[in-house]
Amino acid sequence: MKIHEYQAKELFKKYKVPTLENGVATTVQGIEEHAARLGYPVAVKAQIHAGGRGKGGGVKIAKTAEEVTAAAEAILGMTLVTKQTGPEGRLVKTVLVEQGVAIKKELYLSIIPDRATATITIVASQDGGMDIEDVAEKTPERIIKVPISTITGIQGYHLRRVMFGLELEKPVMKEFGAVLKNLYNLFVDYDCSMVEINPLVITAEDKIIALDAKVDIDSNALFRHPDVVAMHDPNEDDPIEAEAAKFNLNYINLDGNVGNMVNGAGLAMATMDIIKQAGAEPANFLDVGGGANAEMVENGFRLILSDDKVKGILINIFGGILRCDILAQGVVQAAKKVALSVPVVVRMEGTNVEEGRRILSESGLKLINAKDLSDAAKKVAEIVA
Ligand code: ADP
Ligand code: MG
Repeated sequence: MKIHEYQAKELFKKYKVPTLENGVATTVQGIEEHAARLGYPVAVKAQIHAGGRGKGGGVKIAKTAEEVTAAAEAILGMTLVTKQTGPEGRLVKTVLVEQGVAIKKELYLSIIPDRATATITIVASQDGGMDIEDVAEKTPERIIKVPISTITGIQGYHLRRVMFGLELEKPVMKEFGAVLKNLYNLFVDYDCSMVEINPLVITAEDKIIALDAKVDIDSNALFRHPDVVAMHDPNEDDPIEAEAAKFNLNYINLDGNVGNMVNGAGLAMATMDIIKQAGAEPANFLDVGGGANAEMVENGFRLILSDDKVKGILINIFGGILRCDILAQGVVQAAKKVALSVPVVVRMEGTNVEEGRRILSESGLKLINAKDLSDAAKKVAEIVA
């Protein structure tokens, strides 16, 4: 679960990762009041669950009360488009106001789990700031990675490897080491799947401060973190994903145009792979579940159809506990209720497959039968091409 920068900074405070004095507001007046209290300059920062805000006009430095008002009016209520939001952007409803600081150096620092080495890995660079993706692409040697075994936890030599890799100067080392250790503890204690500070700055007075803060917490661990659950912002939910959650469906919105409905997460992953192999892109991941009933299939089908991106649908079901006839009933029910506007390719095998095929063929719906998985992928790819 992602949280906002201001919420991540609350966790940072708790773990003694230094941040600046700040305030959160949802009105222009609120922003002005915080700025007056904090003193100028201030940074006025849009709070959305996506990075790249600075480049999209969602972060402004204001040196006077007039500039604060102008920044507040520009940012509050804007639809902020960044590299990470997609072209539709996000509506800004909440703004963080914080002290402005004179920056000597911008570092990049993050902690992520690395599945390949089964470690918690620190990723850092002295080329922090807004273009870390470019650094990774053009000068990957400027990015250092330090893996940490979860058995030893973070040790002095890990800290030193990061600090020497960043070519830090002596006066900031002690503080940097403490900050990194605290951040690691936060990562572990809160079951994070990512903690990222970009930039972590060294100020003109050689102080270390987290200017940005991104924290992502493993949703499977939320039962241990009621304080994080309370940070949930429904404004940031994908509307189709929120609808899916109500029906207990595992749905993830993706960028492509092939809607797909599959039973079982493993089969769903394989289906997405095979769609890509056929030259198309999946519009979603949807696992209707092994024990789905006709109603769940209907709900899933409606969700897929509510997505404008979808130009073709692939239904790939291996009938086990979810029998093919039940699936067929769900598809027919849903198709009758909503205007079926896109072609549907069906690949179905397993329990009661003949009965399932009979229901579909007698339904009068225009469905395209596939003889196997690769045939199904090929057919749906041709449709959306
Ligand atoms: P994003 O990564 O979404 O663009 P950041 O919080 O990193 O947002 O802000 C973008 C840039 O704005 C930072 O790299 C930094 O240079 C500047 N900035 C952000 N907060 C402050 C602040 N409090 N004082 C001075 N500059 C800031
Ligand atoms: Mg940033």
